[in-house]
Amino acid sequence: MSQQFDADVIIAGAGIAGATLGLALARAGLKPILIDPAPVSAQLEPTFDGRSHAIAYAAFRQWRALGLAEALEPHAQRIEQILVTDGRTPGASAGAPHAFFLRFDSDEIAGRSDGEPLGYLMENRHTRAALAAALKAAGVEVLAPARVRNARFDARAASVELEDGRVLTAPLVVGAEGRGSVIREAAGIGALGWDYKQTGVVATVRLAKPHGGVAHEFFLPSGPFAILPLTDDRASLVWTESQARAAALKDARPEIFHAHLQRRFGEYLGEAVLEGPVFTYPLNLQIAEQLAGPRVALLGDAAHGVHPIAGQGLNLGLKGAAALAEVIVDAQRLGEDIGSEAVLERYAAWRRFDTMTLSAGMDAFVRLFSNDNPLLRVARGVGMSVVNRIGPARRFFMQEAGGAVGDLPRLLRGEAL
Ligand SMILES: Cc1cc2nc3c(=O)[nH]c(=O)nc-3n(C[C@H](O)[C@H](O)[C@H](O)COP(=O)(O)OP(=O)(O)OC[C@H]3O[C@@H](n4cnc5c(N)ncnc54)[C@H](O)[C@@H]3O)c2cc1C
Repeated sequence: MSQQFDADVIIAGAGIAGATLGLALARAGLKPILIDPAPVSAQLEPTFDGRSHAIAYAAFRQWRALGLAEALEPHAQRIEQILVTDGRTPGASAGAPHAFFLRFDSDEIAGRSDGEPLGYLMENRHTRAALAAALKAAGVEVLAPARVRNARFDARAASVELEDGRVLTAPLVVGAEGRGSVIREAAGIGALGWDYKQTGVVATVRLAKPHGGVAHEFFLPSGPFAILPLTDDRASLVWTESQARAAALKDARPEIFHAHLQRRFGEYLGEAVLEGPVFTYPLNLQIAEQLAGPRVALLGDAAHGVHPIAGQGLNLGLKGAAALAEVIVDAQRLGEDIGSEAVLERYAAWRRFDTMTLSAGMDAFVRLFSNDNPLLRVARGVGMSVVNRIGPARRFFMQEAGGAVGDLPRLLRGEAL
């Protein structure tokens, strides 16, 4: 790094995407600085973020390659099967398989994935804790609490202004601060999208019966409902509600919340006991018009905020982190200017197609599945049973969801940079 800069790369946002990129760059010998308004200790509190993420097996390989396996594995629940049901009530597939029923099994792709599961369920707080500890051990500077207020980009450098008045410079700035990206705005990159006028409700429950590593996705008329297996026979429940109902549920007493679960989802959950608070997340689609420009790149939700219907948002961000790290590190090794448009266009070109197809696909999925129109119900049911009967189609979907399709960056193949 030249003496005139504070860092090689300034990363706004130390969420999971930004922190993964920071760690990848540091492991390859670069100097990143991360900035986040949430102090690290607050990010690790169980009340900070109740989300758990279904992490594709290729994305998990990247964390292994970055040395996080030992810290993450005790908290990673293997997903061995995914059962998808289009039903008016969850549990339609219990007992005899429902006609409109899709089943993915890790055994079917074992030959191609080295015995990896379909993915892993990770509670955010454990992932964040592992990343924070690894960044600290690698000597990466994380300015937190600190908030990016503005940024300027010129021919030779990017400068980032923090709310406390500090100004930092680097050849490259990455906006990884989520949907309200200040860096995206400062770079003059527009965003397209819309509000789904739905809220994602998330709660963790302890199950009465072992889950066996099975994830369930039910497509109910009101929207999708997922039961995602966590370690220790717990599950993360994720479903959509109207904004008003979600706000009421967030503040409801546990017994009222439980009665709502029983009413809405029948007996399927059995004696599930709520653990911790109920979290709500507004659901919208937001896609940046460009992934990069001179001296700036966008990563994670700052580049593409999608609906959580198929658990792909963070996975897309982790693929982006692997691709961006590889482009930056290779350019640095060749003596190129890592913030130049020519270098950053390699990242944009690599990620553009996947980002657009996945974002459009998730949006179409939301419209198709959050709907009780009888014709659509028949169409999606036929589609699901066709895919279910065709082995190669099922295996394609599993590998696609596992993030193992296409031109994979080295980290997603489990290799070091
Ligand atoms: C209910 C729900 C369930 C989901 N389930 C899944 C799933 O199973 N699998 C999956 O892959 N995805 C899932 N997603 C999507 C996933 O949560 C997001 O894609 C992911 O959290 C985005 O990570 P990120 O690091 O890009 O951004 P964020 O998590 O939004 O992190 C951004 C960081 O930037 C910081 N920041 C904000 N403003 C500033 C600023 N001005 N300056 C500096 N820093 C700033 C914030 O404090 C934060 O730490 C789900 C989403 C929801 C809502």
